[in-house]
Amino acid sequence: MNAIPFDNSYARMPETFYTKLSPTPVAAPELIAVNRPLAQRLGIDADWLASPEGVHVVAGNAVPEGAEPLASVYAGHQFGSYNPQLGDGRAILLGEVVDGAGQRFDIQLKGSGPTPYSRGGDGRSPLGPVIREYLVSEAMHALGVPTTRALAAVTTGDQVVREQFLPGAVLARVASSHIRIGTFQYFAANKNTQALQTLTNHTLTRHYPEQLVAENMPLALLQAVVARQASLVARWQLLGFIHGVMNTDNMLLCGETIDYGPCAFMDAFQAGKVFSSIDQGGRYAYRNQPGIAHWNLACLAQSLLPLLHEEQDEAVAMAQTAVDRFPELFVQAHTEGMAAKLGLAEITADDTALVEDLFQLMADHQLDFTLTFRRLADLADESSPRQATVKELFEIPDALLPWLTRWRERQQRESNEPDDRQARMYAANPAFIPRNHRVQEAIAAASDDGDFQPFSALHAALATPYQFDPALARYATPPRPEQEVRQTFCGT
Ligand code: AMP
Ligand code: MG
Repeated sequence: MNAIPFDNSYARMPETFYTKLSPTPVAAPELIAVNRPLAQRLGIDADWLASPEGVHVVAGNAVPEGAEPLASVYAGHQFGSYNPQLGDGRAILLGEVVDGAGQRFDIQLKGSGPTPYSRGGDGRSPLGPVIREYLVSEAMHALGVPTTRALAAVTTGDQVVREQFLPGAVLARVASSHIRIGTFQYFAANKNTQALQTLTNHTLTRHYPEQLVAENMPLALLQAVVARQASLVARWQLLGFIHGVMNTDNMLLCGETIDYGPCAFMDAFQAGKVFSSIDQGGRYAYRNQPGIAHWNLACLAQSLLPLLHEEQDEAVAMAQTAVDRFPELFVQAHTEGMAAKLGLAEITADDTALVEDLFQLMADHQLDFTLTFRRLADLADESSPRQATVKELFEIPDALLPWLTRWRERQQRESNEPDDRQARMYAANPAFIPRNHRVQEAIAAASDDGDFQPFSALHAALATPYQFDPALARYATPPRPEQEVRQTFCGT
């Protein structure tokens, strides 16, 4: 039996979709981490993956039996400007596996050497971005947000040249697929309607099989993606997650978060917060994320126009109607999530001021996004909190007390018991997020000293984010001013 039970559907697509090639070997790979539960789910023996043989596969030094490595082509709008030719420039798809429940996953190596789409880049990744993606994508999964995942990571023994010499690394990434809005844009721009049709069928089969019976399948695909992205971006907003590089090539049709480049969770609430060093105009600021997702979906809609209807006007009208649903679906998902965060059965028009005033107070007093909500959860049932509280880390400031009274009055009108309400609030308001200064600490220790202990400890602390453990308080605490990380950088 093969070590990885591959079944590669993308490799069976026409040759216009990719270039087949193998990863470029590295000098002396060493294991950083293996995601055992994920390996198990994918039918891969975790001990094998952690063995020298598995490490060589993750490093790209050996192509496993059944793999059909390829680099896929796509295009995309980067910071609003269209780039007609992107693609897997530092990533190679090894192949796909199907889990016990019949769900199909890509296994991709990131940082595995140059491809025809590298555009002058080296196809490599420094260790820092691999650590960041491993930690943050797995934290997102633990938080319940749809996301690509980290299967394993290795150092390469080679150096990567950026502004300085950095240790190289490879991440084995798992995604439901890597089909991007940019993949559709590439074929639309090349006026390859046949390929668009093939890609639409492939995407529906993989991610929205219930839509295969739809009368207008491209329209059904668009509608389904609009809904899934609205729900995804609502989840980001509810956790204070800032993606940082929401280009159309970084939005997946399957609705998973992808590309943990300059991403970060905010500490103190600030609606205009930006971390990315290259996002000068704040295009991808926290408050802009829903609007950008909407804009990106319009790009997907435009790419699908030739398939929607033979009459251009009809096609445009259908696309417009589908994309116009985004704001409403986003608000619906966001409002439902906010109700859970505040321990309310629902948020009605009467509650709008309550929610808006909270965010205004958080902004005015630079309150920590995560701990404010977590502390409210503690306070939902003061008689007997169901978990250790974060009181030692964060207390509601006096300025918030009038608001707290209003919230409590509003709570009186809820029919459920305080302890149920609190359980629901704890499940919606994490104690642990991958705080940027802790992620940075893990990166620095690994990159500068070869010390992976901070990485492992942080990874462990983030595994059960909705369960507060006072012993792990250092991972729940916001940065002191001198610890604050104000800028994040892409992996390139
Ligand atoms: P990203 O900013 O990660 O979305 O990447 C944008 C594009 O640049 C993609 O086509 C990547 O494959 C490519 N790219 C990024 N970094 C590198 C690199 N080190 N070598 C080659 N291509 C890269
Ligand atoms: Mg990308």
